Amino acid sequence: MHRERISDDVYVFTSGLYAQVTACAIVTSDGAVVIDTLPFPNETRQVIEYVERRAPIKYVIYTHYHADHTYGGYLFRQAQFIAHELCRELLITRGDAGLKLARVQNPSLVDVQLRLPDIVFTGEMSLRLGGKTFVLTHSPGHTPDGITVYIREDKILFAADTVMPVPYIVDGDAPTMLKSLQILKGMALENVVQGHGEIVLRGEINETINSSINYLNKMQNAVVSALLANQSRDDMLREYDIESCGKTRIALNGLVQQLHAANLIATYDRLSTDKGKLAAAKARAAAFAPEKTVSTSKTKAKATKKPIQVKAKAAKQEAKPKAKPAGSAEKPSRPKAKK
Ligand SMILES: [Zn+2]
Repeated sequence: MHRERISDDVYVFTSGLYAQVTACAIVTSDGAVVIDTLPFPNETRQVIEYVERRAPIKYVIYTHYHADHTYGGYLFRQAQFIAHELCRELLITRGDAGLKLARVQNPSLVDVQLRLPDIVFTGEMSLRLGGKTFVLTHSPGHTPDGITVYIREDKILFAADTVMPVPYIVDGDAPTMLKSLQILKGMALENVVQGHGEIVLRGEINETINSSINYLNKMQNAVVSALLANQSRDDMLREYDIESCGKTRIALNGLVQQLHAANLIATYDRLSTDKGKLAAAKARAAAFAPEKTVSTSKTKAKATKKPIQVKAKAAKQEAKPKAKPAGSAEKPSRPKAKK
């Protein structure tokens, strides 16, 4: 686990065990607030120990219900838990099935208990503690229950999985994610803590958000083009690699390629079964007017045909449990993330 101090008394913990998922702690004179919990007990215990040496933990905020952000919750004995109303609902409806599966897949999760939020909200809520103002805002797209947490005094945004090295919309949807990203563009920020990966510094924030918006548009356009050309999912995956949608393949130790393939498949399945959504996507594609990258991506696809096929299969396996309601929505990719 990696620990970083990004402001006076604001700490970010990045998992060394699972997909560089982050948790944060804000220490104030009246107690500490922790945002997200990491999935594996042994890293969560290190976070708790570190924070409690500085202040008692008063509140834990879940940014969304996914396992990698909530499984450590049961280890916080005294804190009150805050989340979006839908997060509580999703933990109740999907959590148990997901946890059962996760325990089988990973014995170190055997003691995990789901810890439900005590305080829930819809829209927006503010929390004041020790001279800090935390603004919690609904930010769906990655999941329906996603929120961001903004610390007004430090101008730091904990964006959770609204900002990731590659937007991941299998359990949400791209148009909603685009709206949530647009909202972030208007904010004057010092730092953005992503749900996974490195902290984004002031000078890189706009570029990062624009690049995610660009990616989602290109990814959706790729799916529309594939459907219009009657391509199979496999042909689509071969033709539209992550770089053809404007993102690097190396982030999160390469895990982003699986996220991208899963995004394509989920969008393909949604649009091919919903004519209304397809028509809306076509209209957006026409408005977006993508750059002409088709010939380049075809060349790349040919040159790297084999590895892409393998990844496409991996992504399908990953996408399945996510499509089914499972609290451990991000679990299946864990072995790959360890690489
Ligand atoms: Zn996540």
